[in-house]
Amino acid sequence: MNMIPNYIPKIPVATERAIQAGIIRRGQLAHVYVAHDDWCDLLAGKGPCNCNPDVQVRPDGPEKLN
Ligand SMILES: [Zn+2]
Repeated sequence: MNMIPNYIPKIPVATERAIQAGIIRRGQLAHVYVAHDDWCDLLAGKGPCNCNPDVQVRPDGPEKLN
């Protein structure tokens, strides 16, 4: 079994995407949101993540309004 959860390799990809999109700045504290599919074993407490979760990186602090 792969010991590295399958959302971990997605984090640098999602981070770079957020930087390029202007959502965060490089070096800024940010949050990583991992959204699992409803049927994921992790959510059911049956074992490690076995879905293809959506990974998003968002800035720290309150959301800014335009
Ligand atoms: Zn999952």
